[in-house]
Amino acid sequence: MSKYQILVVEDDTSVRNLITITLKTHDYRFVSTATGEGAIMETASHNPDVILLDLGLPDMDGVEVIRRIRTWSNVPIIVISARSEDMDKIDALDAGADDYLTKPFSVEELLARLRVTLRRLALMQGSTEQSAVFVNGDLTVDFASGCARLKGQELHLTPIEYKLLCLLARNAGKVLTHKFITQSVWGSSWDNDVASLRVFMATLRKKLEAAPGSPQYIQTHIGVGYRMLRMEE
Ligand code: CA
Repeated sequence: MSKYQILVVEDDTSVRNLITITLKTHDYRFVSTATGEGAIMETASHNPDVILLDLGLPDMDGVEVIRRIRTWSNVPIIVISARSEDMDKIDALDAGADDYLTKPFSVEELLARLRVTLRRLALMQGSTEQSAVFVNGDLTVDFASGCARLKGQELHLTPIEYKLLCLLARNAGKVLTHKFITQSVWGSSWDNDVASLRVFMATLRKKLEAAPGSPQYIQTHIGVGYRMLRMEE
């Protein structure tokens, strides 16, 4: 039995059953609920390791559930949403969700997202403070000396490219929205900044990725944002 406990919040019985049967088959422990109030109560009483949260709940908006839980807990939250709820997905990430799954999703997708999140959780629990050097595959970011290397070769980055890389590295495994990134890098969030962000991301990728057309390190989430992948994933 896995040491991890998952809280499943989903009001659609067939989707909830699909998720809980998958978790059971893969030896995860779980509790489940169909409401937002239930999600808040179960989080407080069971202290789950990960929450799988449907955004369209009967009693409360899923984004509100995230905001409430985030007042006292950093538990990783993977949002489950229908494709039509794209804006809600972005709101959910901005409210503090870590990742999202779009319905309909496959069992393999669900398990992959869980593995990514649990790995991130293990890394977070393993280090009480942010490590001074970030290593991911061939990429090394030395936060203290302010330089990044690929296969030992220093990357010649502009200050904004470096800032972007650090932000992605410090949040590796997590989807960051355009708004979060532009606010972190420029301190503001205008539509113009999202256009600039695309440009800087393209130049950063050119330096970082062996094949910028099929990036290994930085994944694009169209209309949502970016995520740095862990090479083991
Ligand atoms: Ca629903």
